[in-house]
Amino acid sequence: MFLLDVRYDPKNSRITKWIKDGPDCRPVREVYYPRIYISGKPELLSLIASLPGVKGTCFEEKRTWMGDEPEKVISAAIELNSVYEIASMLEAKGCNLFNIDLDPVRQYLLEYSLFPAAKLKGDVLDDRQYALDYEIPDLVSLELAVVPAREKGIITMDEPIGKITLGEVIIEGRDESEVISELNLEVARADPDLILTGRGDSFELPYLHHRASLHGVELKLGREKDILPEGDGRSYFSYGRILYKPRGYLLAGRLHLDKSSFLFREGGLLGLIDLSRIIGIPMQELSRLSPGSAVTALQVNQALRDGVLVPWKRNLAEYWKTAEELLIADRGALVIEPKIGLHENAFEIDFASLFPNIMVKHNISPETVLCRCCPDSQKRVPFTHYNICQQHIGLIPRVLKPLIERRMVYKKRIADDPSRAPDKEQH
Ligand SMILES: [Zn+2]
Repeated sequence: MFLLDVRYDPKNSRITKWIKDGPDCRPVREVYYPRIYISGKPELLSLIASLPGVKGTCFEEKRTWMGDEPEKVISAAIELNSVYEIASMLEAKGCNLFNIDLDPVRQYLLEYSLFPAAKLKGDVLDDRQYALDYEIPDLVSLELAVVPAREKGIITMDEPIGKITLGEVIIEGRDESEVISELNLEVARADPDLILTGRGDSFELPYLHHRASLHGVELKLGREKDILPEGDGRSYFSYGRILYKPRGYLLAGRLHLDKSSFLFREGGLLGLIDLSRIIGIPMQELSRLSPGSAVTALQVNQALRDGVLVPWKRNLAEYWKTAEELLIADRGALVIEPKIGLHENAFEIDFASLFPNIMVKHNISPETVLCRCCPDSQKRVPFTHYNICQQHIGLIPRVLKPLIERRMVYKKRIADDPSRAPDKEQH
């Protein structure tokens, strides 16, 4: 048995675990309240306990900053829909708030030491999160493609459906509502675990849902009612380009993977399973994240496991530097202009994961540089007065080390046997 997916419904505070058991996939549900933490005002415990939406309170020992000693904080289990209202109210009373924006699914997985695609024996985990060799669930996947009736020019949502392809099955016909009902039936009959689309978040799924709604038919691609995204997508700026990111169309009990998403395109299904296991974010959500957000999630997980809380509205200013210090400490990379002309005997030197390796080797992390426990440390940032901790290994090196090692092992296996290289076209 494998844990295929985990979803949270804030309306009834329920976690649904989708368990893949041989050819079947079944939901297992339980009530779960995420936790928030409040520091600074221990006398407010009984007031917080009496607030509507609060399901339980207690004191816990947690660190509010990496490297600090644990302190007594209030822990409150809370209905997700009340989190922001309660947090704002307590903030106005002078409390410091933590773990406010943490997704309940991630909290649940961390709390129960579970992870996506984990192998289970009954209710018990039969797997290790960081295992290099592990069993991959046998997943049935189908490709879904849709062609509007008119293929040329600018296609809008108003164009009726021309043809739908689901795996080997082609669905077409004059009556659009029948075509959609036929698609629902075919999906239910084939019962795939994965539905792959070319660009399902920006085209296939919003288009199909729109066409279905025009006829008052319900499109059902998941094993339960489809989850429609709320709000619009968002535009963001990355490496000099403005990109648009549509909201993800996720399915219940079945995974919708859009093949145009970066992480799926780069790693294929096996890469996504591997990442999803070690990051602890279900595959549908993970495939829609940027690599930077995925790494941040790993750091947050490690901090939470260490008993460190995540501050709400983080606003961490860097320590003040003089102009000279800034010049020395913040040089970035040194790029030397090449001499123009034809060169012989040119060499290329490629450092494997240069920055992560530097951070691991020299223990570089926000709480280890200028740590308070080792002002006379032998380890120092060259040309500056910065000391680096000699007593504790920092959060960042602890997160990066297993990743670098994992990457080296997998790369070596491919070098030893090139046939093991992932074939990105084959899912
Ligand atoms: Zn130290």
